[in-house]
Amino acid sequence: MLNRREFLAGVGGAAGLAFLRPYERLLLATPRFGADPFTLGVASGDPTPTGVVLWTRLAPDPLNGGGMDPHAVEVRWTIFADEAGKRVVRQGTAQATPEMGHSVHVEAEGLESAHTYWYRFECGGVQSPLGRTRTAPAANAHPESLKFAFASCQNWPNGYYTAYRHMAERDLDVVFHLGDYIYEGNIPKVNARTQELSDAVRLEPKDLERYRLRYALYKMDPDLRAAHLTAPFVVTWDDHEVDNNYADAHDEKGMTPEEFLKRRAAAYQAYYEHQPLRRAQMVHGPDLQLYRRLRYGDLAEFSVLDTRQYRSPQAHGDKAGPHDAETNDPARVLMGAKQEAWLKEGLKGSSARWNVIPNQVWMMQCANQNAKGEEVFSMDTWDGYTAERGRLMRFLEEAKVPNVVVLTGDSHKNLVGDLKADFDRPGSATVGVELAGTAISSGGGTPAANAKFEKRMEGQPHLKWFEGIQRGYVTCEVGRGDLHSDFWGVEDVKDPKSAVAKSASFVVENRVPGVKRA
Ligand code: FE
Ligand code: CA
Repeated sequence: MLNRREFLAGVGGAAGLAFLRPYERLLLATPRFGADPFTLGVASGDPTPTGVVLWTRLAPDPLNGGGMDPHAVEVRWTIFADEAGKRVVRQGTAQATPEMGHSVHVEAEGLESAHTYWYRFECGGVQSPLGRTRTAPAANAHPESLKFAFASCQNWPNGYYTAYRHMAERDLDVVFHLGDYIYEGNIPKVNARTQELSDAVRLEPKDLERYRLRYALYKMDPDLRAAHLTAPFVVTWDDHEVDNNYADAHDEKGMTPEEFLKRRAAAYQAYYEHQPLRRAQMVHGPDLQLYRRLRYGDLAEFSVLDTRQYRSPQAHGDKAGPHDAETNDPARVLMGAKQEAWLKEGLKGSSARWNVIPNQVWMMQCANQNAKGEEVFSMDTWDGYTAERGRLMRFLEEAKVPNVVVLTGDSHKNLVGDLKADFDRPGSATVGVELAGTAISSGGGTPAANAKFEKRMEGQPHLKWFEGIQRGYVTCEVGRGDLHSDFWGVEDVKDPKSAVAKSASFVVENRVPGVKRA
């Protein structure tokens, strides 16, 4: 008698399985691949003191539907104590199913806290590259230091992921991705990259199949794969994972909410399939619980936000406008009531020295002037949701939450500043700081725009530093006495061999309000 695995291993394709009982799931233990199935790399994510998520997606023909037959396959995973991949610590098997795009999400457990491990997948006799990951310190540990990076906005046709190549050479505990991991828009035929693309890959995705193609294109980038290979990622999203500036069930092109939620469900599923997320973040139709908390002993706690899924439509039809009754309407939300309560509860109960909030859009007030010289604000950032922001700022002041550091993406600009109990009163309490990092590759300002922005800062003393020309990312070294951040800039994002250099450094001292130039 053959056991189940030997039996299935001997079956070459779907045709041979007609005699299986209908409820017998078709699972191939030893599929045969005509090409490397690990073209999208491997990743790890969401570390705890005892475990980490391991991710891959089998795609031997990534830009052509993935290239997998429509049945489930068994994938072996192994965690090693050493870089040579000799000392096995844990191993097991997982299923890659066609329903989930042949992605694999393993929640490895039983690991030691604050430990570096290496891991690899194997399927059909093919081995994946060896990834490196690191668990979090024990809940009751008193870590002396933690080193992390954060990044956002990686519009593929706009340039190369040179910033990721630089990041991959660092020794990081963890990386936070703050959204715009993909961009959904049409990819112009002529762009900064030289790769030729089919229309299926190039044109704006609206269904699951096309979103998968868009992720496949991004994930194939060697520098992005290298960054994932070196450290666990904690990801959250912004708008472009689905559609530009969407808000909850509302898109900007006027689809009905019913239609748009179908598109959102496809986009959210593709997001889940391509990120190292836990089952707690499993997609359910158009819903995916992405806000969550991670702890690094008593040194740092990370409250990861989702400011897209539950937000009210932008005020003033999403055109820059004043702060008025509409932006101040307490019924309009950015996080939503449930997430807001969760955030406050967590911050109140936190015993961590540093309370870090990975976030999408600018939280600090940032006034601009329109052509008529009137003061206006972006309606897509926290400036469009001043009632909710006001509640949060007052809460931080009243609850005396120590050492709040908000990390932000979205704007494609570097902007560093203080969070104020009342942004219109410079003398009001400083309740936290915000480090907003520029894009990996998206957007990019001009010297003229830079000068204009610097002028804007003159009447806004809570804004400390602005730089809008460089692409790049940010690293933070968290100690018991201070949090030091370095802003890294890519000289020319269109040149894959471009140099990367430090453009500025900042420090926040323990229990001292405000951010300072280091
Ligand atoms: Fe962006
Ligand atoms: Ca954005």
